[in-house]
Amino acid sequence: MSQDITDTRDLDHARRYAGTALGRAALSFQLTVEAADHRSAQEERKPKVHRFATSADALALVDQDAIPDGDVILVEAEGLVAYLVGIWPVAVTAEGGPFKPHDYLGRPVTEYADGSWVDSAAKAEEMARFLGFPIAGEPTRTVHVRIGTHRTSYHPAADCPALNGKRATYRGQEQVTEAQAQERGLKRCARCPEGPAKP
Ligand SMILES: [Zn+2]
Repeated sequence: MSQDITDTRDLDHARRYAGTALGRAALSFQLTVEAADHRSAQEERKPKVHRFATSADALALVDQDAIPDGDVILVEAEGLVAYLVGIWPVAVTAEGGPFKPHDYLGRPVTEYADGSWVDSAAKAEEMARFLGFPIAGEPTRTVHVRIGTHRTSYHPAADCPALNGKRATYRGQEQVTEAQAQERGLKRCARCPEGPAKP
């Protein structure tokens, strides 16, 4: 608990009332309010993210029941993000590693147990997208993106003229999944030659 003291008058006031019955009543009231705040905070508990160096480390803690149900497990080095459903980490990333695959629940998370794990899955997915990990169940075809400024499009075709033109501003290109390109706000290039993209 802390007391907000913004200037010397507040400090003087706090000192004067600290030992009085009124001061104690005020303190008691404040403690009651804080306890109530704490309870409602727990009821609306947001999933926390736990970072691990390896998936084995994560599973060890899960086995010890040390990670709260619904929390998110992140193993950046292995490209894994999962959320805990009871005692099972369920991956949202295409890469599942030793965790349960994304379809382990057997139905969409919105329909599973009245959607109890919806926030957890959303948080896990948000983390995965932020880190650029492919999301399970989403198209992962590779597309091409120019490196540098003035990018508005992604290109399924590696030989698209728009991809390689304007040499002055050309800084090379990179390959990302289509989902990642869309996540960056890029649109599919209208000039790209039609045809199947190389996987
Ligand atoms: Zn193009």
